[in-house]
Amino acid sequence: MRYSELLLPTLKETPTEAEVVSHRLLLRAGFVRKLSSGVYTYLPLGLAVIRKVEQIVREEMNKAGAQELLMPMVQPSDLWKESGRWEKYGPELLRFTDRHERESCLGPTHEEVITDLVRREIHSYRNLPVNLYQIQTKFRDEIRPRFGLMRGREFIMKDGYSFDATEKGAEITYQKMYDAYHRIFKRCGLSFRAVEADTGTIGGSFSHEFMVLAETGEDTLVICRSCAYAANMEKAAVQPPEKTGEDVELLPLQKVETPGKKKVEVVCGFLGISPRELVKTMVYLADGDPVAVLVRGDHEVQPVKLKNMLGAVDVELADEKQVFDITGVPSGYLGPIGLKIPVAADQAVSAMVNFTVGANEKNYHMQNVNLPRDFKVFQAADLRQVTEDDRCPSCGGVLELTKGIEVGHIFKLGDSYSRALKATFQDSNSEEQNFVMGCYGIGVSRTVAASIEQNHDENGIIFPLPLAPFQAIILNLDPKTEEISTAAESFYRQLQQKGLEVLLDDRDERPGIKFKDADLIGIPYRITIGKRFLQGAEVEIRSRANGKTLSLSLDKAMAEIVSSISNEMSATQESEAK
Ligand code: ATP
Ligand code: MG
Repeated sequence: MRYSELLLPTLKETPTEAEVVSHRLLLRAGFVRKLSSGVYTYLPLGLAVIRKVEQIVREEMNKAGAQELLMPMVQPSDLWKESGRWEKYGPELLRFTDRHERESCLGPTHEEVITDLVRREIHSYRNLPVNLYQIQTKFRDEIRPRFGLMRGREFIMKDGYSFDATEKGAEITYQKMYDAYHRIFKRCGLSFRAVEADTGTIGGSFSHEFMVLAETGEDTLVICRSCAYAANMEKAAVQPPEKTGEDVELLPLQKVETPGKKKVEVVCGFLGISPRELVKTMVYLADGDPVAVLVRGDHEVQPVKLKNMLGAVDVELADEKQVFDITGVPSGYLGPIGLKIPVAADQAVSAMVNFTVGANEKNYHMQNVNLPRDFKVFQAADLRQVTEDDRCPSCGGVLELTKGIEVGHIFKLGDSYSRALKATFQDSNSEEQNFVMGCYGIGVSRTVAASIEQNHDENGIIFPLPLAPFQAIILNLDPKTEEISTAAESFYRQLQQKGLEVLLDDRDERPGIKFKDADLIGIPYRITIGKRFLQGAEVEIRSRANGKTLSLSLDKAMAEIVSSISNEMSATQESEAK
């Protein structure tokens, strides 16, 4: 491809609307443009990278025995009503009515459509297992689309679904996908980790998320320093507290004045106690119904654990106004004693004695509070977030918290969808059984963003070879000088003939601009043909990743580039083959 003919609108200025580096660089390098909130056009180079990820995904899915198909993006509401998700999915599901008054939605995921297909087409255990996937545009009306391709409303996903005859079979399929995902993300050149993930309200199943390690990640990973335990913060279990204070005298309840003191640290400072001796009362709306949750002053509620305990579809922290409307108590002074809404407690609270809470009255707190003497809870459970002070739930080792970007998610579904949609097959005894399902997602467009989060410097993107839109870029530094142009053109043609993906910068621009753009768009190998070629017939090869530079004759440069690229590509193929 010739740069002069390419739509590659790089920007000198850093776009101000972009908060994270991948978003900034995708815009600056001319890879994407925003159409509307969370909706992007992929320009030629952006699309080229997407295609690279797709191809790796395709090869590994096919190798693992899955088959590609393509389902419609528009889905009828009937199927979603059958599965029960028409009501449950919430506002992320974009619903609309067509000219015949038929309700439809844009697919955020395809469990319903695939289960419908399989229940119609597969009737016997003899045709199982089957694993089907597609690579397709999804739509989710995210409440806060942000960070460019990281959290769009429209984005590209690979979604796969497996159907097995038995639980055992489904677990084997799951393991195959787990292994395939490892190969995929390794081939993409990412530093990643598989972690145990929340399975939501679908009981009895398990799931893993594949997390790219990056500071800008929206997820927190909990990793044990001693054993293999790694989990999403949403899932990571907290060890039950040791029961303390059994021989401590329960002091009489006492109301104390705390004028204007609302925040935990301020109240504690004023009363001369530690946050470990105070209990916070948080109000959540679980599918719209208020529930109070108690956690120790130095702990935080984990909303996903709360959601699972309540069996709710959605839980949301109530804001100050909602709390006041529900309880009549101004923010900062809420407490469990006499509260009219259901109260749940984190297990750590059950182990506390003589603690402090809000008095449900402005400017007052209660001290020497004790359970169950002073109030009751309807349930005490693990409802809080793990901290680095907690111990590994698997081996008791030291835990480390780190940030990650979820690029993939695999899930053993069991029969929840096949049961709801009455998707059955005949087993070897001619008995009807529900299919045992799994589902497997990869955020293709998010993977591109995650790769840039991990691979960049102050000058731009540093693509790993397998994802780069071009493997090499040739800079013709002086298109007006015939000798240089002839050499650049011939080098370009020869590299193309050898099957390499190469971009020729033949623009009538200053060398400085060409160097800057080449760095910005992150092409792994740069070949510069300029003045030195006239003097000593040498060209310069530079690696974008490590800056290593060589000056070589045209022939040697050709051999060097071809062997470097083929060695590097086969290295990723080999590591994936292990
Ligand atoms: P998240 O928690 O980030 O919203 P999710 O759990 O909703 O993700 P899944 O339903 O498991 O995601 O979707 C499969 C994959 O699709 C995710 O692992 C992620 O890589 C990608 N993905 C999900 N939502 C988005 C989005 N809004 N924009 C880009 N990619 C997304
Ligand atoms: Mg989501």
